[in-house]
Amino acid sequence: MIIRCLNCGRDIVNNPDYCEHCHSPIMKEERYRQLRAQAFIRKQAQQEEKYRMKVEREAKERVEREAKEKANQEAKEAKKTEALERLVKKHILEEERRAREVADSEAKVKAKREAEEVKRVKKVERLARKYIQKEEKESINNNIKRSLNGGKK
Ligand SMILES: [Zn+2]
Repeated sequence: MIIRCLNCGRDIVNNPDYCEHCHSPIMKEERYRQLRAQAFIRKQAQQEEKYRMKVEREAKERVEREAKEKANQEAKEAKKTEALERLVKKHILEEERRAREVADSEAKVKAKREAEEVKRVKKVERLARKYIQKEEKESINNNIKRSLNGGKK
């Protein structure tokens, strides 16, 4: 402990009863007052240091908490985005599948219509052939009749 001599103003160590510089007596009350003031200042400094550390710790904890919350939020957002992308992809695949089915059924309908058209054309051709054969037959019969009745014209 260091106290100050009230007479010469210099520092005195080890709490002597007399100043080691000017040899003036150091009153017990004065020594007690100075030591108490020093203790008060020390305690004040300790409390300030404690408060400063507390503020620092709280600030650090707040930063960590906010970083954690931000990371959580980002993870949540990423999950949401991922789920949305999965949903969109599923929807696109579903649409593609439906489009393929529609195209398939349209192709089937078209093929059926074409097959029916071919059948119809063949039927018409068959009827036409039949008609021509009938005509030819009648024409031949007429020719025969005409030649049998020849001369009697
Ligand atoms: Zn002194």
